[in-house]
Amino acid sequence: MINQASIILKNVFGFDQFRESQEAIIDNVLHRRNTLAIMPTGGGKSLCYQIPGSVFDGLTIVISPLISLMQDQVRQLNELAIPACVLNSSLSDSDYQNNLDALKQQQIKLLFLAPETALQTNILALLTNCDVACIAIDEAHCISEWGHDFRPEYRQLNRLIECFPKAVCIALTATATPRVREDIKQQLNIAQSSEYISSFDRPNLFISVLPKDNPYLQCKHFVEQHPEQSGIIYCQSRKGVDELTAKLQQDGFSVLPYHAGLSSIKRNDYQERFIRDDVNIIVATIAFGMGINKPDVRYVLHYDLPKNIEGYYQQIGRAGRDGLDAECLLLFGYGDTGKIRFFIDQMSNEQEKRLANMHLNQMLALAEAEDCRRTPLLAYFGEKSAKENCANCDNCTNQGKEKSDLTVAAQKFLSCVHRTGQRFGSSHIIDVLRGSSAEKVLQNQHNLLSTYNIGNEFNKKQWMALARQLIQKGFLNQEPQYGGLKLTQKAGEVLKGKVPFFALLQQPVATTSHTSKSFVNSGDQQLVAILKADRKRLADAANLPPYAIFSDRTLNEMAYYFPHTLENLLRIHGVGQAKLDKYGEHFLKLICDYCLENDIQEVANSQTASKTTASKTSSNANSRSVEIVDAYQKGQSISSLATQFKVKDGTIINHLYRYVLDGHKFAQAQLLLQQTGLSQSNIDSALAAFAEHSHERLKPVFDSLNETVSYDQLHLLRIYYVSQLIK
Ligand code: ADP
Ligand code: ZN
Repeated sequence: MINQASIILKNVFGFDQFRESQEAIIDNVLHRRNTLAIMPTGGGKSLCYQIPGSVFDGLTIVISPLISLMQDQVRQLNELAIPACVLNSSLSDSDYQNNLDALKQQQIKLLFLAPETALQTNILALLTNCDVACIAIDEAHCISEWGHDFRPEYRQLNRLIECFPKAVCIALTATATPRVREDIKQQLNIAQSSEYISSFDRPNLFISVLPKDNPYLQCKHFVEQHPEQSGIIYCQSRKGVDELTAKLQQDGFSVLPYHAGLSSIKRNDYQERFIRDDVNIIVATIAFGMGINKPDVRYVLHYDLPKNIEGYYQQIGRAGRDGLDAECLLLFGYGDTGKIRFFIDQMSNEQEKRLANMHLNQMLALAEAEDCRRTPLLAYFGEKSAKENCANCDNCTNQGKEKSDLTVAAQKFLSCVHRTGQRFGSSHIIDVLRGSSAEKVLQNQHNLLSTYNIGNEFNKKQWMALARQLIQKGFLNQEPQYGGLKLTQKAGEVLKGKVPFFALLQQPVATTSHTSKSFVNSGDQQLVAILKADRKRLADAANLPPYAIFSDRTLNEMAYYFPHTLENLLRIHGVGQAKLDKYGEHFLKLICDYCLENDIQEVANSQTASKTTASKTSSNANSRSVEIVDAYQKGQSISSLATQFKVKDGTIINHLYRYVLDGHKFAQAQLLLQQTGLSQSNIDSALAAFAEHSHERLKPVFDSLNETVSYDQLHLLRIYYVSQLIK
């Protein structure tokens, strides 16, 4: 049965592998053994009941306390063509009735219910008429009185379970102390051997701490390093949230606030805008995050010190749920510690006070750690870090913490600050040092400076770290508003070679072994932007969050492999059959058009096993190509075909090219030559150039012909050339 689960994982969800413990959990459930799954946020709990729910013949009931999360999942499942629905009071009468009807007709695989709804007499009566195969209890810690979030309705779920003695039960949670776990197992009759505890480590999160010296500037620079990405900034107080939001808005960032002082209408609206990528950044108090499931949050910044590791962990856990790299930065100032201590001192209950102090000290151990930050973090959960060096926190990426003599690098940096007129921030200085051809560099003619392109020994991150240390050690002053750097008197000493400069050299961040290949921003970003814009349009039209259509990773993989056929599109992470049917042609066209315009070839994607394509869709694609080729061979021109099929000329040419690449010969290949309008001698030299340089890339051919043949003409000639190669 686990084979069936793997097929669903690939064909429906478009994922290649199960994550840690998902496979064992799903296998256990499929064997109808009650199961407890403890997994961190973002670990992939939903799949543990969604897949069995798809495999089982009967109905799977999913109990969850948060309406917004249920609806989010239903939307995502429906996008995958898995029939799922929710019953709750927020539905309109007609939607409610439709869902009831679908249930009665056994058309639903997964039904989401709040615990109190599940226990209503009418619902129980309805369910007893259904063939219930599985009951999944999400946020299962709510069952235990020992937990931090006990809900009496959860305790009564036994009544539901008793009604379905044949149904297998799976309980899932991200937070459970040993005592709570025992309680859940006892309540739900789960055997010791059916408890699966995943590591709490989230290896894709880069964890770092910076001394808080100019928090707004630090925050601004951090956010600037994540353009167009979703991020959350946590502040301690509502006032802090409002002030920071206003400043960021003034500086032109796409940002909204969130705290309990806002009306619930505003809160819902802002949250929804974040989820739908209408706004990039949310500045929030800890009130934000419970009800959101956004997988592509790329960073979490703590503007103030959290009171304890529990909260810190929960908040950074909202980043990188999709498993891709995400960054967590804590700004750590002793002033914040003082504030928290002051509050603790006000507490009257001695035990509470002791506990709060202990929690604060644990948090400080993390903030002040000189070794791996994961050690204190995981110790909090009673877990030992697997490796001494995690390679993904600021301390572990500072090689051995040995300071090195970076005098020469510091001199380069300082002199570049000097030569650019002491007006620019670190990012620009580094661009100049690393020989970037960014517009700002060229506009200012900084490519003509002697310090241009002399700093390629370090990457941008390493230079950034060096710059921070130059600031911290007083060699540079940073102008607060725009971040412009100015030399101090001390800098002169280093420049003259009188004083050496020792500092920590930041090692390039290693990609974690966890994700086989990180696809954050690895695709062609221009194409990613095009794909994102269309994803947003489709999402808005369908009233869905963009990630329910395709994840960022999926778009980046598309812009990395440039698939040209539906079959290859299906090999992309996150593209299953249902999404392919629904969005395949649309995205394929965007990719093909882009490739044609930019002369980009498809990249072989050997990484993934091919998924079984339903013959229907691939034959659709073929039949279209065949139709186009037929019409063309009968003499219809490219531009008239483009009008007929409502595509660009390039897309038609691409269809023709794909046709010959697939090994089909053109009956009327001469037409291609005629259409170029070139003289025979020009055609001959172009064909000779293809023979010499190969037909895979046009640029070498174009260059070798001294621009006598245009790219448009070369595209046609290439089809002829390849067609002639076919025996
Ligand atoms: P949790 O409920 O544990 O917080 P989710 O179930 O929401 O986590 O999963 C987090 C993200 O990870 C989702 O975007 C999901 O699609 C993705 N995911 C889950 N399992 C896999 C897998 N095996 N391969 C790739 N992505 C996965
Ligand atoms: Zn580490």
